[in-house]
Amino acid sequence: WEIEVTPIEKQLDQRHLYFSDSLSLSYRNPIQMKRSAFQYMYDIHGNSFLDAYNNIMLAGHCHPKVVRAGQRAMSVLNTNTRYLYDSLYRYTEKLLNLFPDSLNKIFFVNSGSAASDLAIRLARTHTRKNKIMVLQDGYHGNTATGIQISPYKYHKLDKEYHNPDILECELPKAFNSGYEEAEAGAYFAKRSVELLQKNQGEIAAFIAEPIVGCGGQVPLAKGYLQTVYPEVRSQGGVCISDEVQVGFGRLGDHFWGFEMHEVVPDIVILGKPMGNGHPIGAIVTTSEIAASFDHGPEFFSSFGGNPVSCAIGEAVLDVIEEERLQQKAKTVGNFLKSGLEELGKRYAEIADVRGSGMFLGVELLDLQGKPYTELANHLKNELRENFILIGTDGPFDNVLKIKPPLSFNENDARILLDRMTSIMENRA
Ligand code: PMP
Repeated sequence: WEIEVTPIEKQLDQRHLYFSDSLSLSYRNPIQMKRSAFQYMYDIHGNSFLDAYNNIMLAGHCHPKVVRAGQRAMSVLNTNTRYLYDSLYRYTEKLLNLFPDSLNKIFFVNSGSAASDLAIRLARTHTRKNKIMVLQDGYHGNTATGIQISPYKYHKLDKEYHNPDILECELPKAFNSGYEEAEAGAYFAKRSVELLQKNQGEIAAFIAEPIVGCGGQVPLAKGYLQTVYPEVRSQGGVCISDEVQVGFGRLGDHFWGFEMHEVVPDIVILGKPMGNGHPIGAIVTTSEIAASFDHGPEFFSSFGGNPVSCAIGEAVLDVIEEERLQQKAKTVGNFLKSGLEELGKRYAEIADVRGSGMFLGVELLDLQGKPYTELANHLKNELRENFILIGTDGPFDNVLKIKPPLSFNENDARILLDRMTSIMENRA
């Protein structure tokens, strides 16, 4: 399929003309993309890029099994959950089988944002309370509620937009906290418990990612959730795990992020990789919590759980199993992580390498220990000039984010490490 190509200057003008300038563009030298396959993306000039960034394409860009499942389903039936069709039940059973027994009800939507918004509404309906406890630098979605529960976004707004019903905890980040990992968990948990106790009996929910992506790939300190979850529950609140970025086997050792913290949440939020690029989101919860919607208005999503999405979602689960992607995330991820750690021994600016499986972060600090945003941006843009895609994030944008499609292999990891080394070596 030939795609008509518009000159880059015109595309940039059109962007400015038709969209708000808040729509950001990746890289100093933007890329006009044309095609993609597995861990590769191709621009209009025929250049191949190695994608070490897109965690949505878990099974690989345009994975043929997923594409075929969607094409076939689209040509047969598309409708909504007010009708009965097998694919809905087949997919749901396969998906729920991946959760602990207590998490046995699902609501399908079309994005991570719709899922987090619904999770908060469900939690508030269930508990009849209003306050939500969140983590500093967390991001959960673009809806009105999503922004209110996302310090990553609302910190950039004027103070008057901050909702007094949102309680913000310090990020339980062991690195540079002055504490060892286990002590850091206990310290931050104590602070969060104090915050909960100040709002005794008023908490509807506590929402957190197991590894905080937008905060700069920060794994919650060990033991933190194990202390905070019971306290939330003892006050009548529910615990929500946002698995939009980390779920579906990417972490290698665990299929879900909450498993790495040895807790079981009350509501789980799913999105991004669930449809390998097709817009599917969901929340998974307990029968008891789901029942709190039974006497309210009908829950309905026009597209959530439609037969095409179910066929695609099921194909994604099949590929994860058939291609042993979780195991692959572990072996390739460990290889890449140890390579990054080696690099960290050579360059003092590489201050921390963290994460699990194929969800890694590299924090850069200058020799005074300050966030080294400039170097992070340099590395990201130079890698792009070397045809490798990674991202940067965190409150100071000084953390490299590496979270490739799981088709990314050891040789790809070697190429990434090699290019990073030469960029570090040849800095001005
Ligand atoms: N939760 C997390 C942790 C996310 O990273 C995102 C998206 N970056 C969302 C929710 C929202 O998902 P979506 O963009 O699909 O609405």
